Amino acid sequence: MKNEAPGCARCPFATQERVCQKEEGQAPSFCPTATKEEAIEKALAELKKPEILEFAKQASIQEGEGYGDKELGFAQVKPIKPRVMEIIEFAHKMKYQRLGLIFCIGLRKEAKVVEKLFASHGFEVVSALCKLGRTPKETIGVRDDQKIRIGHSESMCNPIAQAFIMNDENTEFNIVMGLCVGHDSLFLKYSKALCTVLAVKDRLLGHNPLAAIYTIESYYRSLQSSASSRTGP
Ligand code: SF4
Repeated sequence: MKNEAPGCARCPFATQERVCQKEEGQAPSFCPTATKEEAIEKALAELKKPEILEFAKQASIQEGEGYGDKELGFAQVKPIKPRVMEIIEFAHKMKYQRLGLIFCIGLRKEAKVVEKLFASHGFEVVSALCKLGRTPKETIGVRDDQKIRIGHSESMCNPIAQAFIMNDENTEFNIVMGLCVGHDSLFLKYSKALCTVLAVKDRLLGHNPLAAIYTIESYYRSLQSSASSRTGP
């Protein structure tokens, strides 16, 4: 019989009581720790590749270094680093010299700051904006009424070109900043180097998409289909 699809997001057990946290922990019927042995084994085999192992190890070390007061016990542990600092530290740990900065035109000011910041930490930075190439949206079948500025020529975002440029430039680590939903997917698919995301785009919420999730029981209740959870702001 086929196993149920994994559903960690629905896990009913307290975090520290789960089988993914301790050997004698609990597992629901849809638990991948209990049912997806083959995928877990395959992942471990992949980690035997030296370059992947080093990347995974440094990422975990970076994760651990993101907390302070560890000597005071788990309850006292505090986050101590913003993500941008983690990216800089991680890139140094990996001994990267050449970084890619892949950004949206809407975040050009931020990209300028980030580019300078990375350079000040000793990295070479290759940067590419989403609209590079000035390829009209019509090229991919977008109609005039589907553009932002109706009746005008509009360049499409070109994440595949952004990726090809980074690939040509041999960037060692690509940092994505504010690409649109879907454009980010294409960049991530075509980038040769491993990537991380400094910021995701949320035009409405100041690039903090979780604001809608934090307020889903109040201001963003209309996102839910169930009327029963509507409590009002
Ligand atoms: S791996 Fe299993 S125990 Fe851990 S969160 Fe997922 S379902 Fe729950």
